[in-house]
Amino acid sequence: MDFFKKMETPQATTEKKVSGEAEHVKCLIIGSGPAGYTAAIYAARANMKPVMIQGMQAGGQLTTTTEVENFPGYPDGTDGTALMEDLKKQAERFGTEVRWGMVTQVDFSGKVHEVVVDGEKVIKADTVIIATGATAKYLGLESEEKYKGGGVSACATCDGFFYRGKDVAVVGGGDTAAEEATYLAGLCNKVYLIVRKDFLRASKAMQDRVFNTKNIEVLFEHNTKEIYGDGVVQGVKLIKKMGTSEEQEVDIKVDGFFLAIGHTPNSDVFKPYLNTDETGYIITQPGTTKTNVPGVFACGDVQDHVYRQAITAAGTGCMAALDAERYFAETH
Ligand code: NDP
Repeated sequence: MDFFKKMETPQATTEKKVSGEAEHVKCLIIGSGPAGYTAAIYAARANMKPVMIQGMQAGGQLTTTTEVENFPGYPDGTDGTALMEDLKKQAERFGTEVRWGMVTQVDFSGKVHEVVVDGEKVIKADTVIIATGATAKYLGLESEEKYKGGGVSACATCDGFFYRGKDVAVVGGGDTAAEEATYLAGLCNKVYLIVRKDFLRASKAMQDRVFNTKNIEVLFEHNTKEIYGDGVVQGVKLIKKMGTSEEQEVDIKVDGFFLAIGHTPNSDVFKPYLNTDETGYIITQPGTTKTNVPGVFACGDVQDHVYRQAITAAGTGCMAALDAERYFAETH
């Protein structure tokens, strides 16, 4: 398939653009996680005068974790929110203009791209860097909300280290769950893998790793009812064979509860114009951050379902700024 697929006719949206003179910028960055801020630092230093629209969760996913120990350059670790504040200051120091707001509509059909913020303000941009990230899926339990940052996490690579020698649970049956369970098994005393069906959806190779790891116990046909604890997670109540005559409640004692039931890339608003995979991840040209629309670049988790780390997001943010700068130089 030709990477630069024929532009589809965008779906009609209910939102209206406001008429009048639109602001015109060289580089618009959408999203404010490690990818967005790194893109901003590089773009600002290259005199692209970037404007950043922060999005719903200013600072991105790192602001939902507590300590970050695996971001290079912090020998004693750092707080996720503090790290994002530092990145913001660094981007602003070189002239990035950071604004509140959500991008609600885009028009990538022309040479100059149009982006609507909060349903009313139109910004025209020569280059657009999309760094809107992905959102981890949660089960939707009240108790899950209560213990976020206190034993409930959606990232084993980020938080697993805090559970060394302890017992933990991972929920999910796909590749992420299998990968996180095996990663945690290397750190923890015991890992329960909670799977709602009677089989794993993960690839055969990943399944083999799970079944060959002694300290992983797979609990097939178990659903999570409730997470409990005194301030921090101490255990999970599960329902075995839910909805059958054999239904029974099972209680496991764990210190950590890891969600691995998938991520949703935040790409909906761009889909009328950009190629995405079946899950919605934006497809970039291999080895670059170029999307199928010239002048529109994507970096970080919105285009990466494999690595999903702050440092890899930052790396692709740098690439996006360099790609945007080169594109701008070639076209102006
Ligand atoms: P998937 O969508 O593949 O799997 C999600 C899992 O979570 C499924 O087992 C699903 O159960 C389960 N699940 C979903 N909702 C609930 C719920 N409410 N309660 C309990 N369980 C639930 O997501 P992944 O993140 O695992 O993978 C996403 C993509 O990324 C896949 O294409 C995967 O192959 C890829 N990937 C590749 C990796 C690699 O190559 N190294 C590593 C990680 C991911 P059910 O099966 O019942 O629907």
